[in-house]
Amino acid sequence: MKLLICGGAGYIGSHMVKRLLEKNIEPVVADNLATGHRQAVPENVSLYQGDIRDGAFLDKIFRENKINGVIHFAADSLVGESMKAPLKYFGNNVGGMQSLLEAMVRADVDKLIFSSTAAVYGEPENIPIEEGDRKNPVNPYGESKLMMERMMRWVCLAHGLRYVALRYFNAAGAADDGTIGEDHPVETHLIPLILQTALGQRDHITIFGDDYPTQDGTCIRDYIHVTDLADAHLLAMKYLIDGRESAAFNLGNGTGFSVREVIEAAERVTGKPLKVELGQRRQGDPAQLVASGKNARRVLGWQPEYTSVEAIITTAWRWHSIHPDGYEK
Ligand code: UDP
Repeated sequence: MKLLICGGAGYIGSHMVKRLLEKNIEPVVADNLATGHRQAVPENVSLYQGDIRDGAFLDKIFRENKINGVIHFAADSLVGESMKAPLKYFGNNVGGMQSLLEAMVRADVDKLIFSSTAAVYGEPENIPIEEGDRKNPVNPYGESKLMMERMMRWVCLAHGLRYVALRYFNAAGAADDGTIGEDHPVETHLIPLILQTALGQRDHITIFGDDYPTQDGTCIRDYIHVTDLADAHLLAMKYLIDGRESAAFNLGNGTGFSVREVIEAAERVTGKPLKVELGQRRQGDPAQLVASGKNARRVLGWQPEYTSVEAIITTAWRWHSIHPDGYEK
């Protein structure tokens, strides 16, 4: 089996590629390397460098490879940036999905696993969040991903393509062997920022608001390990290959940790006390996002391996300690 991994040089995509190779499934990577890293893709994997908004680029990949299905990670994914540059998100994420769907229809490739997000829900009506709950994104990032999900649904009806949308909560951690991990051009995510502080690369970690309606006033998120996410994609592809119908699943541990709890866990893992400052709320951040992952467990048979935030941070700390400056530039 050969799968096209759009965004396979990025953080989650590269862990997907690693997992596929471990399972003897051949990945073909498409990545514009805007935020991905060539070094995150093993040399024996075909890497097509280009933008998925370029239909001719995608046609060439489909022509040169017999692709059985697509796993799509190629998108901008920063909540804060999306508030400041919404059109970048609609252009790249929604435009990218349109171009990918068009190329898949042309090439007659009919299975798509899509990296969606908890941000499609906005401020949740219930905790834990169920897949059928109200979707009311509070930032352009979440809005763009919801639009992408809806585009797939209509293409499914018109062209018979089937998809699984996987709504991740907070992806974190790194490959167990420390070979690949998180390295963003401008780091904005909580766990890498905390670990860079532990490495002495930053003076302090800022908590974005402590006046949320949560037990310690800081935002609560559901952290899920990146290789557990990769496993869910593989199970979702198997689900489509088995002929099952299009669906959306939440991917989370079902347990929330506050920003303060994550900082304390990182202090335990690294053995280093961290300087913490209190800052303003970040625009577009819901107070609490925790998944009900029961459908992914029941329907896909997904069983996350990393269920504690310490275990997740331990793998991330290994990556950051071995690669303090990320991938070689
Ligand atoms: N956060 C924080 N300080 C930081 C970065 C993030 O307090 O320097 C908080 C952020 O407000 C959110 C949580 O940590 O509540 C996780 O943020 P991240 O950017 O890692 O992921 P997101 O929830 O945006 O996907």
